[in-house]
Amino acid sequence: MSIESILPVPDIFSAKRILCIQPHYDDNDIGAAGTYALLKSAGIEIIYLTVTDDLMGVVDSSLSDEAAAEALNRDQLNAGAIIGVDKHYFLGYPDAGEYAYFDLRRDLLKYIRWLRPEVIFAPDPWLTYEAHRDHIQTGLATSEAVIFTGLPKIASSDPAVDAAYAGHDLKAIAFYYTREPNRIVDISSTWEAKIAAVRCYKAQFNPQGMDELVMALDLKSRQAATGEPFDRGEPLKILHPAALHCGL
Ligand SMILES: [Zn+2]
Repeated sequence: MSIESILPVPDIFSAKRILCIQPHYDDNDIGAAGTYALLKSAGIEIIYLTVTDDLMGVVDSSLSDEAAAEALNRDQLNAGAIIGVDKHYFLGYPDAGEYAYFDLRRDLLKYIRWLRPEVIFAPDPWLTYEAHRDHIQTGLATSEAVIFTGLPKIASSDPAVDAAYAGHDLKAIAFYYTREPNRIVDISSTWEAKIAAVRCYKAQFNPQGMDELVMALDLKSRQAATGEPFDRGEPLKILHPAALHCGL
């Protein structure tokens, strides 16, 4: 008997709402915007939750923090409008800064219990050679929040949300930025939208840097589709929550 027969890879398209958690303003779209656009066109609600304020990634260092935050926010909303993001939430942790892992985990538990998404996206925290702590912490805190969502003794940052939570059908976590995908999503039909969304992040990339990013995404999307019956793919590791503990 295969493990897939008792714990099959969940179908992310069976969700009604997905919560897309990202460390910085551009990660959701670089990692999985083609998939999100497909999910949106299937009638699924798309919510973005951004962990940090992203202020360290702004290329124009002459901008005040207020002006930089405004530019980042504008870029995020523009990109979200292209993909069809229904709502945005921002936690505002300091980009590349000091913040407590357990504070983040409590906040993520709050949003999961409050919004009750069937599928949650996050960066793969076990990506080999990932050095950015914001990415590792976001992926790991999301993973722990997913397996602890139904445990009432593990508090979120909002007692009222915890008191109102009576469980929900959390089907899957889907990791983007992964080297161990178990699904390659055909994004041929949403590739143009993905790149249009990525190009919105003007505060974080100068024109040359953006062109280099798009070239890298172009190459990677084609490589991901190698051997598949389509031209462009996004690699995802999609796991049932029970697969996040003890090696199942
Ligand atoms: Zn990032």
